[in-house]
Amino acid sequence: MLPTSAIAALREKFPLITELMALQPLSWFNPAIAPAAEALNDVGLTADDVADASARLTRFAPFLTKAFPETQASGGIIESPVVPLPAMQAALGFASSMTSGQLWLKQDSHLPISGSIKARGGIYEVLKHAEMLALDAGLLKEGDDYSLLAGDAVRAFFGQYAIAVGSTGNLGLSIGIMSARLGFRATVHMSADARQWKKDKLRSHGVTVVEYATDYSVAVEAGRKQAENDPSCHFVDDENSHDLFLGYAVAGERLKAQFAASGVIVDAGYPLFVYLPCGVGGGPGGVAFGLKLAFGDAVHCVFVEPTHSPCMLLGVHTGLHDGISVQEIGIDNLTAADGLAVGRPSGFVGRAMQRLIDGYATVTDEELYRLLATLEQTQGLHLEPSAVAGFAGIKPVLAAPQYQATLARATHLVWGTGGSMVPQAEMDAYVARGRALLAIGAA
Ligand SMILES: *Cc1c(COP(=O)(O)O)cnc(C)c1O
Repeated sequence: MLPTSAIAALREKFPLITELMALQPLSWFNPAIAPAAEALNDVGLTADDVADASARLTRFAPFLTKAFPETQASGGIIESPVVPLPAMQAALGFASSMTSGQLWLKQDSHLPISGSIKARGGIYEVLKHAEMLALDAGLLKEGDDYSLLAGDAVRAFFGQYAIAVGSTGNLGLSIGIMSARLGFRATVHMSADARQWKKDKLRSHGVTVVEYATDYSVAVEAGRKQAENDPSCHFVDDENSHDLFLGYAVAGERLKAQFAASGVIVDAGYPLFVYLPCGVGGGPGGVAFGLKLAFGDAVHCVFVEPTHSPCMLLGVHTGLHDGISVQEIGIDNLTAADGLAVGRPSGFVGRAMQRLIDGYATVTDEELYRLLATLEQTQGLHLEPSAVAGFAGIKPVLAAPQYQATLARATHLVWGTGGSMVPQAEMDAYVARGRALLAIGAA
């Protein structure tokens, strides 16, 4: 916690901080938003970098179909469906698509292998590292069929190397499962919020799980230390990694193709609003970068965070980025949205994307449970609490004066970031909790 006088000075300069400290759901639209053609230059990465990542994922497709048979249906490409949500839209009270546009869901909750958005960035980074090692060792050459990487000899080779990561859960699942399958010695440093089933699942794959009684930042630091002391260990840096970011960014061109195939128009007259749950920022930031490359100024991205963990909003709004944490202004970073329980944002993403993200909103845990139960009741879809946060960004957009002219032709896409691997009993408990809260609201 900062000294009282420092907090007072911040509140004076940024009145929004007083609202954040009151833990009330709120929204803030970024006055510094700039045209994509200009602001994409802030990022330090380009369309070529994303194309390179996409080509690498295509090279790995034969390996993935062999190592993970559940990817056979998609030819070894890890991608999720995008589906309309008419019943959810009606339940949320903006039923008239004549005035407010249409609601869709990107089901990263159902990505193969690890069941969350982390199956994009996390898996990409492990594959890239494996490719580099195998090429250097002469075990792989350009043009080879990458399914050879699933063989025992290559597995034994990767066994000389380690991969470490700090995680609230889902990144650990992605990195751990993919690393272990390739043969790496994998260690996941898990924060206190991580669910027990995620730790159990990793251990069942032969991954070493180290548990901490503290939050995400401490788990990440522990992973960083482990790698510093071991030259054979690659540390996946969730706070700064460009590879993670690029793995997420490939989603942009994929979504563009999916919308084209579904007849959904996105252009200046038909805007696309995308609502992304934000933790440290790498996932939503990388996806937003890919979306801006794919759709330019026709796409508007809104990040949503828990009222108890609004780290990206705090960092971008104050311009302090990773120089401030929510704990320093007395916010506890305790939330049921375990994937979003991050107190200090990525400095890289906050700075790189600050002129490309339209707005930020916060949501209470109670509202997350209500949204989760409503989605289950209306559409029969099961997402984890973190993964429904995006829905809370819609209302502020519908009320924002700057968007009114084209809202009737808008597409609203909620990025559903995780949930398909949550054990049934746990999911039932989430839904029951949400139904109880809805019943109180209706009474
Ligand atoms: C990790 C995660 C996010 C957010 O991604 P960050 O890179 O931490 O911002 C959102 N939803 C779920 C389910 C996640 O696991």
